[in-house]
Amino acid sequence: MSSSLPLLRHYIDGEFVASAKRFANVSPVDGRMLGEVCEADGDTVNRAVAAARAAQAGAWGRTSAGERADALLRIAAGIERRFEEFVAAEVGDTGRSVKQARSLDIARGVQNFRTFAELVRQAGGEFYEMRAADGNDVFSYTVRKPHGVVAVISPWNLPLLLLTWKVAPALACGNSVVAKPSEETPASASLLAEVIHEAGLPAGAFNLVHGFGPDSAGEFLTRHPDVDAITFTGESRTGEAIMRVAAAGVREVSFELGGKNAAVVFADADFDKAVAGVLRSSFTNSGQVCLCSERVYVERPTFERFVAALKAGAEKLKIGYPDEDDVDMGPLISRAHRDKVLDYFALARAEGATVVTGGGVPRFGDARDDGAYVQPTIWTGLDDGARCVREEVFGPVCHVAPFDSEEEVVRRVNDSEYGLCAALWTRDLKRAHALSRRFRVGMVWVNTWFLRDLRTPFGGVGLSGIGREGGRHSLDFYSELTTVCVNP
Ligand code: NAD
Repeated sequence: MSSSLPLLRHYIDGEFVASAKRFANVSPVDGRMLGEVCEADGDTVNRAVAAARAAQAGAWGRTSAGERADALLRIAAGIERRFEEFVAAEVGDTGRSVKQARSLDIARGVQNFRTFAELVRQAGGEFYEMRAADGNDVFSYTVRKPHGVVAVISPWNLPLLLLTWKVAPALACGNSVVAKPSEETPASASLLAEVIHEAGLPAGAFNLVHGFGPDSAGEFLTRHPDVDAITFTGESRTGEAIMRVAAAGVREVSFELGGKNAAVVFADADFDKAVAGVLRSSFTNSGQVCLCSERVYVERPTFERFVAALKAGAEKLKIGYPDEDDVDMGPLISRAHRDKVLDYFALARAEGATVVTGGGVPRFGDARDDGAYVQPTIWTGLDDGARCVREEVFGPVCHVAPFDSEEEVVRRVNDSEYGLCAALWTRDLKRAHALSRRFRVGMVWVNTWFLRDLRTPFGGVGLSGIGREGGRHSLDFYSELTTVCVNP
């Protein structure tokens, strides 16, 4: 590899440090090498955790909530100052459109720090009075304290957005953080370390280690006995592995895991809005959002028309280079992930799907043929028991099925081991309220999708996760509450 390519290093105890083992960072657009990344071994992870622990005993551990809120605002301003560098880093690693990186990924990174700066400044405790047997008026109140050292493990699909979603509240609550971003997307995390350094946080408050999961940085970090809490976003199977490890020492976990989400379209829905909504919810970020709809249920009178309109919309999506203004879909994250998605395309055929559109690899006749692209794909005709209807594909694909009644669609939506979210398209709000309560999911969108007020709880049930983050729910996960009872 050329030495002119960048080398991404770890950030430990306020310094950028290299380690001997390296891995390649490859563009999913055309297979080009973008640079090398240091892979943390056990010793490197030990140093990061030790630095985080020492920061708790040092300056960072003595900060007030107000001081930490100011630090978060400096980080937000730092990301904004280097906004286009973050965009380039995210686009390089993921191949997504520049348009999306600007409007969603990096913008939300800034917003995450601003939101938790504001929330932690306002976070109060609880206060109760009672009369004790001795006649005294006793009062009890709560004090919010950090856990200590929090491990943050994040995935590749929305790299900066999902990393900062956890780093911001963890720091806001006074924890020291050791973060490990996905091996597929190390670049924006490294820039974040630079920004946090520039924002003047005490050494050890934030640390970053690069590497893989099993038998690498991820596992070394989650196994480390001096990590007090683990927050993880990624696949459900990885969540299970981390939970087993977290049992030693009874460490706290928060898991945001996979989904096999349903979109439900009633015949009374605004047809065009519903088609546009399902196109977004199935194909945004090439289907690589945990909240994407891979199961679409359409009320029978409108089914044929809906499938035809969705097909027309999918076929108009422009697959292209990240810097094209009108590009709708980029590549998948890697050739390896593309192979997994293509295996599902083959499985769907074997399971008897009708391929309404897509189902293959687009040919460009240029460098993108070495990238990781697939076509937006729509299936119909699968049984509810088919693996392609039950397992998360995590690509630009949905299965569309007709339904005849509310009872039937509730049963089918809930017939899943996952339970992250559902999207409901109907003009009948009475029905929307009633069904929203019955779906076994963490979030329901009615006539919209992906719209998030960051103060609301976020998370899933079943294989989709444990716990809720967002707003005060994040503050609760990232802190310990101590109750003080005073008999004056
Ligand atoms: P993944 O589980 O393969 O990897 C996620 C992170 O965990 C990476 O940093 C990886 O290196 C690390 N890791 C892997 N094995 C580990 C182990 N044994 N110990 C410690 N760390 C380990 O997930 P991914 O492929 O990066 O992300 C896609 C998945 O994430 C999808 O299932 C998607 O639905 C899910 N996701 C969920 C949410 C949510 O909020 N619910 C959001 C985004 C993505």
